[in-house]
Amino acid sequence: MSFKKNLYRIENLIFVAAFGFILYKMVYGLHIRMSLKGNGLFAGIVQQIAKHQYYITLISFIIFVNSSLVLWEIFSFFVLSFKTEREAKGADKYKRIFRKVRLHYKSSFLALLVTNLLPKLIVVPVFWVWFSHFKGLQLFTVNLKWYSWVYGYFCWEFASWLFHYSSHRVRLLWCFHSPHHGPSEINMTVNWIRFFAESYYATFVHLLILLVLGVNPAMFFTIIAIDGAWGIFTHISEHAIANGRLGFLQHLLITPAHHRVHHAKNHLYLDTNFANTLPLWDWVFGTLQPLKDEVKPAYGLLRNLDATNFFDLYLGEFLLLYRDVRHAQGIVNKVSYIIRPPGWNPASADNTAAVLRQKFLEANPGLAVTSRVRLINWAKSKFLKAEPGSNPVEIPGAGII
Ligand SMILES: [Zn+2]
Ligand SMILES: [Zn+2]
Repeated sequence: MSFKKNLYRIENLIFVAAFGFILYKMVYGLHIRMSLKGNGLFAGIVQQIAKHQYYITLISFIIFVNSSLVLWEIFSFFVLSFKTEREAKGADKYKRIFRKVRLHYKSSFLALLVTNLLPKLIVVPVFWVWFSHFKGLQLFTVNLKWYSWVYGYFCWEFASWLFHYSSHRVRLLWCFHSPHHGPSEINMTVNWIRFFAESYYATFVHLLILLVLGVNPAMFFTIIAIDGAWGIFTHISEHAIANGRLGFLQHLLITPAHHRVHHAKNHLYLDTNFANTLPLWDWVFGTLQPLKDEVKPAYGLLRNLDATNFFDLYLGEFLLLYRDVRHAQGIVNKVSYIIRPPGWNPASADNTAAVLRQKFLEANPGLAVTSRVRLINWAKSKFLKAEPGSNPVEIPGAGII
C-alpha cells in the first residue's frame, strides 16, 4: 500500500478518535457533568448572575449558546444523513454516511486537535502575551464611554479586514490562511480550522492597529469575545439555516450568507467579504459582495483538493509555494512568488483572484452593481459634469482590482 494511502488511513483513525473525544467533552463535560459539579458553563452563568458579575455571565452565555449550536448542527447533520441514505443497505449505508462525516467534519476536528496539542500557540494567549511587549506603542488611550466602544470596535474590525485581506493577497500569508478555506462543505466547526501559526500574524496586525489608534485595552477581551462568537455563527451550515441572509440584519451585520460568499470559489465571489462582524470596511474598500441567487456558492480552494485529505489541506499550499520558489529563475521571481497574490506566475497574473473576478464582472456587468457602485454613480451624476454625449458613469467591478 502506498505511503499516501497509509497516511490517509491513519488520518481517518485519528479523526474517529478525535470526533468521539471532542463530542464527549462538549456534551458530557461542558454541559452536564461539570455543571452538576458547579464548574460547567451553565453553572458558571447562574453563579455569575448571583455574584452580579454580568460581564462574565455574558461571555459564558455566548460560549454556551455557540457550543450548543455546534452540537445541534452536528446532530441535525446525522439525522439528515440517515434520512438521505435510508435506501442504502447494510455496511454500504454506514460507509456512505462515514464518507459524508469525513467530508463535513474531518478537517475541522483534526485542526482542533492540532491546535490543542499546541496549547500555547492559540490566538488569545498569544494576544495577551504579546500585548505586554507592545504596550509602549500606545501614545493615547480613549475612555470607556459608549462612543469609545463604537470607535474601538470599528478599529478592531479595520484590523481584521486588513489582516484578512493581506492573508488572501500575499502568497506566503495565504499558506497560513488557506486551511480555513479548504473544506468543500461549510458548518460551524470550519471556524476551528486555523493554521496554528496564523495567530502570530493576526495578533501582530491587531495589536499594532489597536494600540496606535489608542483603543482602550480594557475593551479588548469583550471585543474578542463578541467577534469570536459571531465568527463561529457565520459559518453555520445551509442545512441548519438555508438562506442565511437574516433579513434586514444583512445591512448591519456580516451574515452567514456573506461569509458563505467569502468561502466560495465561484469567480464572482473570489476575495470578497473579509470582515467578521460589520460590513462597514468591506463596503468602504469595495470588497463587499452580497450573495446572488443566480450564483450558488461552491466552497473550497480553486486548485483540485480532496477536502478529506487533511495533510494536503493543512500543508499543501506550503509545499506548492516551496516548489514554485525552488523552480523560479532569479531572486526577483523567487521573492515575487512569496509576496505576490496566489495564482501569480512570472508569465501571467491571469489566475489571480483579482483578474478572475474582474473578467467575470466584465462578462456579467449586471452582477457588478452594488449599493456602493450605485452611490458612487449617483454622486458622480449629481456633482460631476457629464461630458457631452456620454452616458451616466458606470463603475465596472466592485473590488479593489
Ligand atoms: Zn479568508
Ligand atoms: Zn470562514
